[in-house]
Amino acid sequence: MFDVVIVGAGASGLLTAIVAARRGKKVLILEKNNKIGKKLLATGNGKCNIANQRPTLERFYSQNPQFLKDILQDYGFQSVKQFFKSIGLELIEAKEGKVFPMSLQASAVVELLVAECEYLGVKIMCETAVKKIVFDNNIFSIEYDSHNIKTKKVVIATGHCSAPQLGGVMDGIGFARAFGHKIVKDFPTLVQLTSAYKENYLSQMAGVKVDARVTLRSKSQTFIKQGDVLFTNYGISGLAILDISRRVMEALKNSSELTLEIDLMPKMSYEQLRAMMKKSLIKKSQKPLTIWMQGFINKKLINPILEPLKLDNETVSSLLSSIEKVDMIVKKIKHFEFKVNGSKGYKGAEVATGGVDTQEVDAKTMESKKQKGLYFVGEVLDIDGDRGGFNLHLAWVCGLRAGESL
Ligand SMILES: Cc1cc2nc3c(=O)[nH]c(=O)nc-3n(C[C@H](O)[C@H](O)[C@H](O)COP(=O)(O)OP(=O)(O)OC[C@H]3O[C@@H](n4cnc5c(N)ncnc54)[C@H](O)[C@@H]3O)c2cc1C
Repeated sequence: MFDVVIVGAGASGLLTAIVAARRGKKVLILEKNNKIGKKLLATGNGKCNIANQRPTLERFYSQNPQFLKDILQDYGFQSVKQFFKSIGLELIEAKEGKVFPMSLQASAVVELLVAECEYLGVKIMCETAVKKIVFDNNIFSIEYDSHNIKTKKVVIATGHCSAPQLGGVMDGIGFARAFGHKIVKDFPTLVQLTSAYKENYLSQMAGVKVDARVTLRSKSQTFIKQGDVLFTNYGISGLAILDISRRVMEALKNSSELTLEIDLMPKMSYEQLRAMMKKSLIKKSQKPLTIWMQGFINKKLINPILEPLKLDNETVSSLLSSIEKVDMIVKKIKHFEFKVNGSKGYKGAEVATGGVDTQEVDAKTMESKKQKGLYFVGEVLDIDGDRGGFNLHLAWVCGLRAGESL
């Protein structure tokens, strides 16, 4: 009989298996996909942003921050680095504290984890979807296909429903519910946003990518993210949007529509932009504004800027006679308003928020407080993090904790 059966051969499951097997446990992993670590292979655009050098508490989210605190204070970046060194994976550091495998290949991460499992005698069965877990007579019975397997300890490492095309499912949530666990409601995060912005402007702007500063103002707080913003025909995407999406999705719970304020030229102050524009007006000309503005901004953004100001048919000379119009354009560029009303959903999301309520899981062991011998690790729990390697950090440290306590 196996000492431990782990459901899910993703990031947290593989790590739990290795750490438990190194401590002498006989481990079996059941994986429903036909290959191991399918989501892991897609991380960081195939390069795997495996961790972050600064996994500080404010980069993570849960309804129960104490749970995160209890894990993060014991497992920082060095714990993750040491683990990967122990399986022969060298890491390199990039900007913003992001960490990648030296080969820049997610496949290297999966292959080295699998090789370590093989070396330690961990058995992995793919194409094996667990349907039910029951506890009877002090033993768990795990049902898959028309078989079942008995064990004393079960680890739910099933992830959550983000990226269903890579195998994201709610199965783990169902298993937790069956053992009486409370579930914190989920929503997609690190996700592209859909828009109720005027349809004609969406199609005009689609494909434009700018470095921008995005601001979301709520009654009590302001959130700001800077980076790539990509306008699309459904709404808006890009790294700054993924970064702010969690706050937007939270705010959309209380409102059907929100306005993002986008500074389309964050590298110039209001005054610098105004001075530059005024200077370029000096050569008095009958040039249409739509031509003149191409000197400093993407052509596809010009009509969505000028039309709402009713300046789309004007010429440069009209600005010279009315400097307020220059200010109107500068203001529009620095505070471009873009309405959003939802997200592309789990198909576009890197992560699902919510999950198994961590009040009912022991942060010192990852064991359920409701059912002895049952453990939860990774995204199935109500924990998630910012983009930048923080979500995988969570998966790895949950695995370290569970593997050690098993
Ligand atoms: C496109 C994309 C890019 C990402 N990039 C990054 C990144 O660069 N850096 C970062 O930190 N995070 C990234 N993430 C997030 C990160 O991948 C996840 O947070 C992490 O994989 C979660 O690990 P996990 O072990 O909890 O779940 P998973 O890695 O999802 O593993 C769960 C496994 O359980 C299996 N399973 C589920 N139900 C069953 C069942 N009933 N029976 C058997 N098996 C089952 C699944 O098939 C899956 O293999 C990205 C996510 C996506 C979608």
